Amino acid sequence: MNRVLIIGAGGVGRVAAFKCAQHRDVFQQITFASRTKSKCDAIVQDIHAHGWQEEIRTETVDADNVSELVALINDVKPNLVIHVALPYQDLTIMDACLETGVHYLDTANYEHPDTAKFCYAPQWAYQERFEKAGLLALLGSGFDPGMTNVYTAYARKHHFDRMETVDIIDCNAGDHGYPFATNFNPEINIREVSAKGRFFENGTWHETEPLAVKKIFDFPDGIGPKDIYLLYHEEMESLTKHFPEIRRMRFWMTFGQSYLTHLKVLENVGMTRIDPVMFEGREIIPLRFLKALLPDPASLGARTKGKTCIGCWITGEQRGQSKNYYIYNVCVHEECFTETGAQAISYTTAVPAVLGAKMILTGQWNGCGVFNMEQFDPDPFMNEIGSWGLPWIEILPEKGSPTSEVFT
Ligand code: NDP
Repeated sequence: MNRVLIIGAGGVGRVAAFKCAQHRDVFQQITFASRTKSKCDAIVQDIHAHGWQEEIRTETVDADNVSELVALINDVKPNLVIHVALPYQDLTIMDACLETGVHYLDTANYEHPDTAKFCYAPQWAYQERFEKAGLLALLGSGFDPGMTNVYTAYARKHHFDRMETVDIIDCNAGDHGYPFATNFNPEINIREVSAKGRFFENGTWHETEPLAVKKIFDFPDGIGPKDIYLLYHEEMESLTKHFPEIRRMRFWMTFGQSYLTHLKVLENVGMTRIDPVMFEGREIIPLRFLKALLPDPASLGARTKGKTCIGCWITGEQRGQSKNYYIYNVCVHEECFTETGAQAISYTTAVPAVLGAKMILTGQWNGCGVFNMEQFDPDPFMNEIGSWGLPWIEILPEKGSPTSEVFT
């Protein structure tokens, strides 16, 4: 009997709960907990309205509080916690999993609320404790990080003897009709985008000013050419560690002009600050105040039209021949909404999370310690992810074509 506890009832938590309900053969007992229980209840009602009549227990939990988490886990007795609340709670939930003897999975690496910086060190530091406890912690099991790590491992296994460069390219070509909104948690999103860019080349990390490096990439499936901007993203840290042959690694994301203009103004007036400021006799954090004003990403589903396209462009060699390889998924916002009531960013994050959970519960991925996705055999994951809603396409672009020139 597999019992799973999902924590976090935002956009990603909604899709995770839907997907667990759709795969009752794997997840026989589901508990859904968040800071606000009514959000879990509303999602469960919607799951039932979509025709999935499974019983899902809902609970309140403050995941910043280890003893509350431990009490809930001891009551529910899950085999695995799927953590899709915020990166601030990674360590408290890992602590609670260790204390109760339960496997752990998340989609984003730890960040301290007071410092807009993320790296794997605080979570990799749990390696020995998870190993000794005979437990598995799977880190970054979303799309990017997550699916992109599996794509890279799959490419290395089937297409390359040696990878030379990896460029991860994330395009959201969807339109929600607002002049400015973020498609996942606004606080986490704005912290990520307004940070300095960083990429890896010849064994060293190089820093750039935020969004200072831009290219144009011609996306497939009718999406067409879009501006892409260089960002730092967490999967580069684990992929360059686990595939030390990679000479250069970069991460790119599309942004529309309206988003960039609004972001610049918000930065210029201090609204993206994360340090406390005094306002009418009390301290507020401007970015948290801004989050309260912006549309809730979980509410964007009904308004968002268009596609996402996220994938990896990899160069290297196989049997002495140099090679270009592009693997990607295209996801349609409207289809995600019809299936789960969420937009494609929540969908593309939660589907790999729930399939990652299946890999652990069925023992197809096993081990004791803290793991990133690329450390496991990509094949069982790739064999199933298409039927779970995220089919993938691979192409071998010819060298010298206009698109291949962007990344060589
Ligand atoms: P949302 O802000 O929509 O949802 C977060 C949820 O977590 C909210 O329901 C919130 O509850 C709950 N929560 C926050 N703090 C606590 C707490 N202390 N205890 C319990 N519950 C809490 O975020 P998203 O759903 O958009 O994103 C979820 C996660 O997915 C984030 O970590 C994000 O970084 C990650 N992500 C990963 C991606 C990937 O590809 N790897 C892509 C996109 C997102 P309440 O509403 O009651 O406050």
